[in-house]
Order: sequence, then structure tokens, then C-alpha cells
Amino acid sequence: MRLILLGPPGAGKGTQCKRIIERYKAAHLSSGDILRAERKAGSDLGQKAQSFMDSGGLVPDDVIIGMMIGAMTRQAGGYVLDGFPRTTVQGQELDKALASAGEKIDAIVNLQIDDAVIEPRMTGRRSCPVCGAVYHIENLKPKVDGQCDKGCGELVQRPDDKPEVVENRLKIYHEQTAEVVGYYESTGATIININADQDIDKVSADVIEQLDKLDA
Ligand code: ADP
Ligand code: AMP
Repeated sequence: MRLILLGPPGAGKGTQCKRIIERYKAAHLSSGDILRAERKAGSDLGQKAQSFMDSGGLVPDDVIIGMMIGAMTRQAGGYVLDGFPRTTVQGQELDKALASAGEKIDAIVNLQIDDAVIEPRMTGRRSCPVCGAVYHIENLKPKVDGQCDKGCGELVQRPDDKPEVVENRLKIYHEQTAEVVGYYESTGATIININADQDIDKVSADVIEQLDKLDA
């Protein structure tokens, strides 16, 4: 299965992707995770992305499009795109690349949620810098406070989850990313709208109920 997961930052895309890829045996292609790995490796791409990410802005389209289409091309089976596309131009370029490869996206899962609910999700998010696992100080606590359950060590707050950056990320989402849903509506793609303001298991159940219908 090939899917795109849309929704504002903090909507729960990464959390739901983990469950979707397990059930449907697909790869998780998160643009944010790939960028953070590039930064950790000190690559040119990572260095180019750094200032945009730290301020909560978007990394330029040409950098992201090449990076994500490259990652998709390396996948023989299904995948779930998380965090990409984030602009209409990215969506259009993705569609062109899929068409020339003779592939198509089966569905777009659109996580819907208000900013007021998202803010505490982002500021309370804690991530493992070693394995990438994601927790929350209230909603998804690790077994031992501040420590990754997989024994990697201390959890950290992403610099772009600090309150002053979160505000900018939400502003950018509304200015540049929210319109991507409209773009896909205009192409006639299959869009599955999900209420993401429910507990994690209920959101997963709603997503799986809809995806199982597609898979049948
Ligand atoms: P995204 O990938 O969309 O930025 P995440 O999946 O990282 O979002 O989730 C953001 C934070 O909110 C994480 O700390 C996660 O544990 C928490 N979270 C995710 N889904 C829910 C939910 N349905 N209810 C409460 N907290 C959630
Ligand atoms: P995320 O982990 O999805 O919240 O992404 C973290 C940051 O990476 C974003 O705030 C952007 O700076 C950058 N980023 C991730 N995906 C994209 C994208 N598709 N287009 C532009 N920038 C992106």
C-alpha cells in the first residue's frame, strides 16, 4: 500500500505511521526524520536544512523534492509518506514523479485537529535522539521518566518543539501546507479524513477501519 499522511505538525502523523506500517508491511518515509538524520551525519543536505528547521520554516522545495523522490525510488514495496508533500509544488512534483514511474498513491489520510490541541502535544513531545522513538510527557509516557523504553538513554525535546518555534511552525502550516489537501481534492485523489483529536488508539482504529476497506 502507498499512502500519504497529511496533517499539521503535532497531529500524530509519526505516531500513527508506526502502527500503519506494522499492519500493512510498508516503509515509513518521514521527511523530518530523514532531514534530522542528514543533520546528524553532517551532510551538505543536512547543513542546508539546518537554519530552516531551527526557525520552524520550510526547507526549500528543490532540496526536499529530490530527497524524498530519491527515498521513494529506493523502496521496492509499499510506503507511507509522513511530512511530505508540505507545499502544493511538492505535491505536483510528487505526482509527476509517480506518473513517470507508473505508480500511484492509494489514499491520503488527513489528520484533522485544531491548533489549540496541537500546541501542548508539540511542546510535550519528547524524542529519543538514538532510535527516534517518540513519547509525550502526559499522553505517552516512557516507563521511566525521561528515558527511552528501548534502553537508548535520555529523551530530549526537539529544539523546534520549544514554544516560540511551535508558534511559527503552526503559522507556516496554515500559510503554506494546509492548501495541500485542496490540491489533492482537485486531483480527485482518495482522501480519508480522520478526527485526530481523540486518544491514540481510537485514532488508529479509525484509520485502520478505513484502510482495511481499501485493502479488501
Ligand atoms: P507529528 O508526526 O504529526 O508531528 P507526533 O506523532 O510526533 O506528531 O505526535 C506529537 C506528540 O503528540 C507526540 O508527543 C505524541 O506522543 C503525541 N500524540 C500523538 N497522537 C496523540 C493523540 N491522539 N492524543 C494525544 N497525544 C498524541
Ligand atoms: P517534522 O519532523 O515533519 O515536524 O519536520 C521537521 C522540520 O523539517 C519542519 O519544520 C521543516 O523545517 C522540515 N521539513 C520536513 N518536511 C518538510 C517538507 N516536506 N518541506 C519542507 N520542509 C520540511
